[in-house]
Amino acid sequence: MSSEPASERRPPVDLEALAAELIAKYGEGQRVRVRRGVAQVAASWRDGDGELAAFVREHFIADPGQLDAAFARLEAVFEQIDGHTHEVGREARRASDVDLGPLLPVDPLLAAYDPAAHVTEDLFLAKPGFVVLLNWPLTTLAERDAEGPRYTRRQWAEARLAGRFARRVPGEVRQAVTRATAEADLYVSQYNLWMHHLVDGTGARPFPSGLRLISHWNLRDELKGRYGDPEGLAKQRMIIKVMERIVTQTIPAGVIDDPRVDWDPFTNKVSAAPPETVEANAPRREAAPRLDGAPEPDIRYAKLLAQFHAARREDPFVPTAPTAIARSFEFGRELLEARVTALLEQVLATPLVPRVAKEIERRLGRPLEPVDLWYAGFKAGGAPPEPQLDAITRERYPDAEAFARAMPEVLRGLGFTAERSRWLADRIRVEPSRGAGHAMQAMRRGDFPRLRTRVGAGGMDYKGYNIAVHELGHNVEQVFSLDTVDHTLLAGVPGNAFTEALAFVFQARDLELLGLKKPDAASERERVLNDFWQTWEIAGVALVDVAAWHWMYEHPDATPTQLREAVVRIAEETWTRYYAPVLGGTSTPLLGVYSHMISYPLYLSDYPLGHLIAFQIEEHLGKTGRLGAEFERMASFGAVSPDVWMTHATGAPVSAEPLLRATEAALESGRE
Ligand SMILES: [Zn+2]
Repeated sequence: MSSEPASERRPPVDLEALAAELIAKYGEGQRVRVRRGVAQVAASWRDGDGELAAFVREHFIADPGQLDAAFARLEAVFEQIDGHTHEVGREARRASDVDLGPLLPVDPLLAAYDPAAHVTEDLFLAKPGFVVLLNWPLTTLAERDAEGPRYTRRQWAEARLAGRFARRVPGEVRQAVTRATAEADLYVSQYNLWMHHLVDGTGARPFPSGLRLISHWNLRDELKGRYGDPEGLAKQRMIIKVMERIVTQTIPAGVIDDPRVDWDPFTNKVSAAPPETVEANAPRREAAPRLDGAPEPDIRYAKLLAQFHAARREDPFVPTAPTAIARSFEFGRELLEARVTALLEQVLATPLVPRVAKEIERRLGRPLEPVDLWYAGFKAGGAPPEPQLDAITRERYPDAEAFARAMPEVLRGLGFTAERSRWLADRIRVEPSRGAGHAMQAMRRGDFPRLRTRVGAGGMDYKGYNIAVHELGHNVEQVFSLDTVDHTLLAGVPGNAFTEALAFVFQARDLELLGLKKPDAASERERVLNDFWQTWEIAGVALVDVAAWHWMYEHPDATPTQLREAVVRIAEETWTRYYAPVLGGTSTPLLGVYSHMISYPLYLSDYPLGHLIAFQIEEHLGKTGRLGAEFERMASFGAVSPDVWMTHATGAPVSAEPLLRATEAALESGRE
């Protein structure tokens, strides 16, 4: 970082001597705090930061009263910094987020402006960050897991205070990560297949003209959508073959996003597409179509390796989580990898899988095969048809204002007291959204969350209403978790999965709130089995994602080809172990197809965890039957660790049991 010649640098500080000096001054009782504080400061201190020893002498706090005062000051000031910075960002994006009329060319630039981007580094440069590191302990996730259940609320708040400064990563290293992610994202976003140009052994084209699908999302959704099609199975098998060839990189490079090339994914033969079959909106290309059939040269894995090499540069700057894998579990998710793996394996290996599989088999009237990894036949029905619902919501909510006025009544309908409903509604601002709708939190008391909802000219349609109720769930959580939590350092909930689960609690009751019948038992049964199957599916995908990163850390000099071989092997082994017994296909690498693996690595575990957390919260609320009071009690506890939060909320740490119990009950209730 520094460009000064080595001879002009200050001599390294003798940390041992510095610590000894402070211990002599403040007494043996401060030994642990002194040594830890000095080491924590030294780990993040850089040449340009000045005299470390002088700083430490001036800012080490031994007196408990002074320590309390400093803690309170930092908590109050950080709330203001976070809250006002957040408001500045919100207002910069306002024209982009809120439907205020035509956008100006400058609006997207304003929306990309993030005033919070450099706050942490600024607090290091201005030194309050170092005051924190000198006086409060950084903790690892393992320590919080072991000690957290016995932490006082103040200790949790201190863990969050110090945690803000757990990493000081140089800008150039962060930028390298951003660049690698952006490049992987671009690669993924252009990975389209023109389905009309898939040809089978007879030369037929099973898919319609113009269908351009991005891997893997659209391919998977197309597969799911073919369950109702009498000719669907052949098409589904073809999609599976395409996916396998993407993972193994045996896909001919020439077929990617080029409708001028026909391809039989089974024989892997390519040929020039007859001109009359080439779609008019094909991407304009200077080069001739590639008809040599040469495979994609492991670009997929080169992108993943580039992510790995960039992420690895952060390692030395994060002593509490010195690998990208550790950081993905340590920050944000806050569940130890071993725990997450155990939860996922519990779902993967449960004896409920063959039982649900049997039910799917009965419905399909054929043995299951790999396509049924994405079985989409569980359908919650029973709701009135959508046009009828649209009519109800349009009349009730002609504009965003009407939804705002109705909020206290909606909240009472969910089980909040009249007083609480009014209090909450006073703290949530409703605005017309440009997009589908979202909830934007506040980050200081006195500021209020925004509920952005989309209302068309003819009033709020049912889809918009359904989203608005979901977002209201977020907003209510946001009000409780900021305004009623005892420490603003603990504002929020442990992570995304928690706020989504709480929002779902609202959303699942949207029909009741319209005065309609709530979903019946049969429909609820379909929902549970569908969620179970989806959780089972994505649990394996998540394991493959994490295992690929372990392999890269064990083989940091691997080539893209070696990485490809490893991922294919890992995906196949995972399949053989958990999926082949019910879906067959002993050696398919299908679980490696998710694009997140390339563009958002180490994120996939959040999906199955989200399902587990939602079921656990739902199960508890269903048991108590006091939704309003229980929701408030849960959401007011703040951002402690997921396990501590869940134990307070439901009496048990994060667990797969509620999902498994619900699935078991659904299977039982289906018995004739
Ligand atoms: Zn949400």
